[in-house]
Amino acid sequence: MFIPLTPIRFLHRAMDLFGSQTGVVCGSREFTYSEFGERCERLAGALKARGIGRGDRVAYLSFNTHKLLEGYYGVILAGAIIMPLNVRLALQELAAILEHAEAKMLLFENDFAPLVEKLRELCPSIRTYVSLGEPAEPAELTYDQLLATARRDERLDIMQVEENSIAEIFYTSGSTGTPKGVMLSHRSLYLHALAIMPYTGGLEPTVDLHTIPLFHANGWGAPQASTMMGARHVMVRRFEPGLVCSLIEKQRATHMSLVPAMANALINHPGLNNYDLSSLRVIMIGGAAASPELIARMERALGCRSVMAGYGLSETCPVLTVAVDKPFVHFDNEAERLRRRAMTGWAVPNVELRVVDLNGNDVAKDGSSIGELITRSDHVMEGYYNDPEGTAAAMSGSWFHTGDMAVWDGTGYVHIVDRKKEIIISGGENISSLEVERAIFAHEDVFECAVVAAPDDKWGEVPVAIVTRKPGSGLTAEILLAFLQDRLGRFKLPRQIEILDEPLPKTGTGKIRKLQLREPFWEGKAKRVQG
Ligand code: ADP
Repeated sequence: MFIPLTPIRFLHRAMDLFGSQTGVVCGSREFTYSEFGERCERLAGALKARGIGRGDRVAYLSFNTHKLLEGYYGVILAGAIIMPLNVRLALQELAAILEHAEAKMLLFENDFAPLVEKLRELCPSIRTYVSLGEPAEPAELTYDQLLATARRDERLDIMQVEENSIAEIFYTSGSTGTPKGVMLSHRSLYLHALAIMPYTGGLEPTVDLHTIPLFHANGWGAPQASTMMGARHVMVRRFEPGLVCSLIEKQRATHMSLVPAMANALINHPGLNNYDLSSLRVIMIGGAAASPELIARMERALGCRSVMAGYGLSETCPVLTVAVDKPFVHFDNEAERLRRRAMTGWAVPNVELRVVDLNGNDVAKDGSSIGELITRSDHVMEGYYNDPEGTAAAMSGSWFHTGDMAVWDGTGYVHIVDRKKEIIISGGENISSLEVERAIFAHEDVFECAVVAAPDDKWGEVPVAIVTRKPGSGLTAEILLAFLQDRLGRFKLPRQIEILDEPLPKTGTGKIRKLQLREPFWEGKAKRVQG
C-alpha cells in the first residue's frame, strides 16, 4: 500500500490521538492538539481564499511563537511552501532572498514593521503583508483577522499530497556567498522525523523546549518529531538564559537543543542555581563544534547526564549524526566518554556517511586521516531553489558534499575537524566569508581583502577582515565598519579589521592564501574549528 509521506500525517495523528492534551505552550497561551490543528486548518483555508496555492512561497519574519509553528502545518496544508527567514539579517539581505524566492506573502512580527515597510518597495512579488501582532503598516490585516475570517479547511485527504513536492525552503548563506534556498520535501521531512524520534524523546512523555530558532532548518527538526509523538511544544520566543531556566522549571521541560554559545550563556547565568532544572533528560548541542569541557560543565551545571553533540546542515533536514554513546561502545574512562559526547557522532537511521579524499576515495578509518564528509540519505534536500548549478555542485557523484572535513573510525564514528567551505560559524549562525568580502569590496578604497574565522571564547568563531587599501587612501577600520552597518546583519560584521598597505599573500595562481592568513589566529589550537 502506498501512502504519501508528509508531515501532515503527524498533525492528523496528534489531533486524533492527543487531541485533548496540551500540544503548544506560548507565553501565557496554551492550545490542545485539537485547537492547534484547527488553527492550522483555518490558516490553510485563509491562505487558499487569498489565492495562495500549490508551490507558492509564504515567508515569515518571526521569532519562535505558536503562530510560526501553525505555519509549519497550515501553509503546507494549503499546498504552499513555508519559508521562515532568519530574523537577524539586514534589509538588503532579506530583500535579496525574498526577491530570489518570489514570495507571495510575508507574515511578520511587529518588531520588524519598520524593516518590512522598506522591504515593500524592494519586493514586488509580495502581494499580501500580514502582521503577526497588532495592526501595523504595511500589513493589510493581522494574523488574528486572517484566521477569524477564514473557513476552516476540511481535513486534507493525504492521498492528494505529492510526497516529493516541496514543503519548506530555508535560505542559508551557502559556501559560495550567494544565499541559497534549500528545498526540503514532504517525504524528506517525514523520514527525518522518524529517524530522529528516538533521540528526541521517543515514547517517553516529552516536553520539548524550542530554544533553536525555527528558521534554522525547522528548529533542527523538532516540530515534526514532537508533533508525531504528541510531545508538548514549548515556544521560546528568543533565547534568553533567564527565560529558558524559568520555562524549564515551570513547564518541566525534558528536551532542548542548544548551540555551544547558548550552552555557555546558560551555564554562566548567575541565577542558574535558583531554578529546579531536574526535569531535563536530553540536551543536544549542535550547529557548531562542541568541546568535552563544555559537555562536562553542562552535565554538572544542569544535572543532566545526556548532553550530546548532534550534527547536520540545513541541506539535510538537518540531523545527520548524534553522539549518543549507547549501546555501541563502552568507554575506558570518563575523559573518553566526554570526548565522544562532544564529537560529531554516528549516523542516524536513513543516513549513509563517507569520509573521502580529493579523488573521492574513502580515507582510512583510523581516527586521524582527514577527508570531506559526504552523505547519501533520504534527508538530503531536493536542491537549491532556482539554482541548478549550485545544486549540481553540491550533489556531485550522487552524494551530497557537506564541505566539512572529518575523521572517522572503525565504528563509523565521525568527528569534524575543519571546514572546506568558506563558512564561519559564530554563535551557531553561518557567515559566508565570501559574502562579507563582497560587502567590503563595495567600498571604493578597498584594494584587496580576505575574511577569515578567528576563535572566540563566547561565540566559537568570529569573522576578522584583513584589508589592503588603495594607495593614497585614508581608509580606516572605523570607516569601513560604518560602511558595512546597513549591508550586513550585525552578527556578520568583522570583529577585527586589519588595514594594510602591502598586498596579501597569494598562491601561484593568484588566489589569496586565506589559510595562511587564518593560521596565526589559531596558533596552539588542536583543531581548526572552534569547540
Ligand atoms: P544548522 O542550522 O543546522 O546549524 P547550517 O546549514 O546553518 O545548519 O550549518 C551547517 C554547518 O554547521 C555544518 O556544515 C557544519 O560546518 C556546522 N555544524 C553543525 N553541527 C556541528 C557539529 N556538531 N560540530 C561541528 N560543526 C557543526
